[in-house]
Amino acid sequence: MIIAITPDAPQATTDAILAAAAASGLGARTTPDGHGGALVGVDGSLTGDILTLPGVDSVHASHKPYMLASKEHRSPSVVRVGTVRIGGGRPVMMAGPCVVEGREALLDAAEAVRAAGADILRGGAFKPRTSPYAFQGLGEEGLRHLAAARARTGLPVVTEVLEPEQVELVAEYADMLQVGSRNMANFPLLRRVGKTDKPVLLKRGFSATIEEWLMSAEYVLASGNPNVVLCERGIRGFDPLLRFSLDLNAVPLAKELSHLPVIVDPSHGTGKRSLVARMALAGLAAGADGLIVEVHPAPDRARCDASQTITPAELAALSRSARALHATLAAAGTAAEAANVTLADVAVTA
Ligand code: PEP
Ligand code: MN
Repeated sequence: MIIAITPDAPQATTDAILAAAAASGLGARTTPDGHGGALVGVDGSLTGDILTLPGVDSVHASHKPYMLASKEHRSPSVVRVGTVRIGGGRPVMMAGPCVVEGREALLDAAEAVRAAGADILRGGAFKPRTSPYAFQGLGEEGLRHLAAARARTGLPVVTEVLEPEQVELVAEYADMLQVGSRNMANFPLLRRVGKTDKPVLLKRGFSATIEEWLMSAEYVLASGNPNVVLCERGIRGFDPLLRFSLDLNAVPLAKELSHLPVIVDPSHGTGKRSLVARMALAGLAAGADGLIVEVHPAPDRARCDASQTITPAELAALSRSARALHATLAAAGTAAEAANVTLADVAVTA
């Protein structure tokens, strides 16, 4: 059950609903509704006077299983990472190497991606490698380099956390916690990142349905963390020429079903650097709120994912095209609205 609470509702109303749920042995939690009020999600049904307390706006017995991630009864979310806002505005660019290779290498990469238009620095310190013999990342040393790069450039950093036991450590250094494709359904990890106050970048499992992805987001939200950004990063296809197939259907569909911002990873989504810029722009055209792109000053020397890594100069060109595309789409949306036409998703301007 979802109970919508008005922005001016007395706190006592929410407290009473939570207490009534607890007394009935039901889990319940609140989440912002995106326009000043709140939603209470109850794992079951409440009845009686509690549903008519002052400030109870509406009661919804039927709803999606991902009741907190769903777009029902709420407006799109904006997630803040440091001073960067993801959702509902200019597309956000996250960029950096696949893996943190060393202090100087990361500082160089960070300065280069900032100059090329990045808003957030990416880089893995703990890497989920297919082979246990491949470079697994620098671990905590890598996290320290990310913190140094943030201090040098002012860019907030996003980095992956692999295990529940690592969450506290990674959260000490990172501005945003990345849950990777291979961990999308690691429920203990999702619960643990849901207990932090750091925004979470939730990559779609490469064999996961969109509903499974949203249910994973639900784990984070239900654990108390409202700041989740979804990332479409490609799904397993059958063509050996492509590492993964970027599923751009997922972008407008996830935005239709969920209030959470959605970004696109055209690097892992293609595995091929020659495709990255075009698929990045296609992702924005599909309605993405941003991109995460693997960039290295010397891509052929990258220690991980070299074949899908682009140069800072290519990122700069992509950033310019992304800005131009965003302006064009925004103008098209405004024109459509003025003409009272419903384009499939005029939300590109929202
Ligand atoms: C990454 O972004 O470094 C990564 C490992 O991505 P994914 O989890 O999507 O494979
Ligand atoms: Mn990678």
